[in-house]
Amino acid sequence: MSVIGIDFGNESCYIGVAKAGGIETIANDYSLRGTPSCVAFSSKNRILGVAAKNQMVTNMKNTVFGFKRMLGRKFTDPHVQKELRHFPFKVEQRPDGGIGIRVNYLGEDNVFSPEQITAMLFTKLKDIAATALQTQINDCVISVPSYFTNAERNALLDAAAIAGLNVLRLMNETTATALAYGIYKQDLPAPEEKPRNVVFVDFGHSSLQVSACSFNKGKLRVLATATDAHCGGRDIDMALAEYFAQDIMTRLKLDATKNQRAFFRLLQEVEKLKKQMSANSTKLPLHVECFMEERDVSGEMHRAQMEEICSDTFTRVERTLRAILHNAKLRPEDINSVEIVGGSTRVPAVKGLIEQVFGKVASTTLNQDEAVARGCALQCAMLSPAVRVRDFSVADAQPYAVRLAWDAARGEDGDMEVTIIHAASTTARLKVFPAFHQAPFSKMLTFYRKEPFSVSAYYSDQVPYPESFIGQWFIKDVQPTPEGESQKVKLKVRVNIHGIITVASASLVEKKADAQSDSVEMENSAENVSNNSNNQEAPMETNGAAPEQPNGPENQEVREDDMAGEPQQKQSWTQRVGSWFSGETDDKKDKSKDKSKKVLVKTVELPIEARTHGCSQTELNSFQEQEGKMQAQDRQEKERADARNALEEYVYELRGKLSEGEALHDFVAADQRTRLVAALDALEAWLYEEGEEQNRQVYSDKLAELRTEGEPIKQRRLEFELRPGALDDYSLAI
Ligand code: ATP
Ligand code: MG
Repeated sequence: MSVIGIDFGNESCYIGVAKAGGIETIANDYSLRGTPSCVAFSSKNRILGVAAKNQMVTNMKNTVFGFKRMLGRKFTDPHVQKELRHFPFKVEQRPDGGIGIRVNYLGEDNVFSPEQITAMLFTKLKDIAATALQTQINDCVISVPSYFTNAERNALLDAAAIAGLNVLRLMNETTATALAYGIYKQDLPAPEEKPRNVVFVDFGHSSLQVSACSFNKGKLRVLATATDAHCGGRDIDMALAEYFAQDIMTRLKLDATKNQRAFFRLLQEVEKLKKQMSANSTKLPLHVECFMEERDVSGEMHRAQMEEICSDTFTRVERTLRAILHNAKLRPEDINSVEIVGGSTRVPAVKGLIEQVFGKVASTTLNQDEAVARGCALQCAMLSPAVRVRDFSVADAQPYAVRLAWDAARGEDGDMEVTIIHAASTTARLKVFPAFHQAPFSKMLTFYRKEPFSVSAYYSDQVPYPESFIGQWFIKDVQPTPEGESQKVKLKVRVNIHGIITVASASLVEKKADAQSDSVEMENSAENVSNNSNNQEAPMETNGAAPEQPNGPENQEVREDDMAGEPQQKQSWTQRVGSWFSGETDDKKDKSKDKSKKVLVKTVELPIEARTHGCSQTELNSFQEQEGKMQAQDRQEKERADARNALEEYVYELRGKLSEGEALHDFVAADQRTRLVAALDALEAWLYEEGEEQNRQVYSDKLAELRTEGEPIKQRRLEFELRPGALDDYSLAI
């Protein structure tokens, strides 16, 4: 069982694998480490990765790319509308408002969602890994841009589920990079020393992500992130292509903007030119053969000109670089180094801006293309029991402030440091979790309710997504106590390991009847315990709910057990825990304590109905079934193509060897040879005519038949060779 990390890029994907000897990246079937994020369709099969990109120009309408940035979005989303202006394939609105990508597959129109297309790419990556590692792949960690919102993260998880991948974590790309950096650093400051601050800049194909992290030995903490989701290497390509299209229009009166194929080829050429310009500041030529109307076009550019044409992009880059200083509250002198990854950080202007903003030269400690995949593979190894790696604690940050809102029930809810909004008719309450809050995290909220209620979550910051709604959770089965009083309901709000915001559980906290009379006294005594820092309970949750803290603040923070929090925060955690009661099932309770100082509580899990983003289970099942069928079809087509190739190869090989002076020529009677060669010629002709599209069996039957003639000849030759002195005879024979 292998553990892998996938960097799912907008342009290309990389796969890292954790092995006993360290982290490696896997090469695909074309011996390349990068696999294009490209999925194509034909009348026979799907074409995935490198092969898809290679046939793009000749199958533009059915070659899908750029889908990472469409995950979890609606068709009418302005971002989607902007993206699809550049897509040569058809994108339409699905009945549910989602995105449908219409392609011709198996000779029919088919509409797929971005999640399905992503799943197709994932099946390819899974295949690449399984072939390279000779094992089944299930567990993985997949990278995700730190700016992805709940909807996009859920969509990515759905895609992985369709592909049959078990995602141990969706890991923020810059955090994966930070892990790949930190784990091999031998000289990190000791835990009690001042941490080392490092800024990571990942400038990829579609976006720019920057993070500031602090490192101590064995741990990293993301302080803040700054991102521009609409600024990437492709924007440079687009600006250059538009410039050349205009230039060609002026000089040659050819309008490439009206010809998708021509414009696409121009994009490919300017990308090449851009890469050359990264290494070369002199004037460089651009040349496209048979561009339009069978005419070749050429142009030229030097780096300074490119920088001027793309100045918008560079302004945005600078803005984002400056934003990290603000978000992380760091001055340039507080930063130890600025590490760069992502293809577009190779652009000299970007390195120049980094130097300008941070006052230090961009450092290339990491493999610019593979760092994210390596970090994901490391994280996967840490989360999976299959491989052992040195542990390294990763505390991420949730980039957006989150607002939780609910209707107040007669003002009875616990004091949750809430803001009260006086709307015209109702009183709504809300709680805000600040941006860059450490993640994953859980928080317990206490409610006093007599009936079912709901809690909603929204992003309260500007997010690169059209709606701020995250989800609404309906807490069911809440009833008054037999005395008609409110029940105490504890909600666990969580930013989970994937960075997804959710209500993880709701439980009813019932005091045990026989313990009820003691409760007042016990609450008081519990408060005393809180002052005794030596008398601390283990900070564990019971039955999914935190132990109680009757007189303390109702807003209780439950820190993740697997995260390294600040030592100071840990302290406050344990202090607060000290004031809590043990739950009935808390096996860690201090047996030596006076039993009368305990309130026995029973927690009952309450059903929650969630309204949030992502596929329903029914949809997922249907997508999985569809994916399974497509895989079977691809397999069948591959077997068919393999059978045809095997026959073709045998025909060529045998005919070649039967010719004058070749290995088998003298090992068959002349008349049989003539007949056989004629049959081979006929078979070759057949393969390119009606034999082009036969099913597998037809080819293998023909191959078997051919072998009954061919193999005995080869056998005779072999026996001849094995005879003592055979080679002397043979050399005499020829
Ligand atoms: P994203 O991170 O946005 O999802 P990605 O991970 O697929 O996308 P990368 O592989 O990091 O993106 O970077 C690809 C981008 O880098 C492309 O736009 C490519 O043109 C650009 N790029 C690669 N090499 C160079 C170079 N030498 N000079 C300039 N740009 C380059
Ligand atoms: Mg990337």
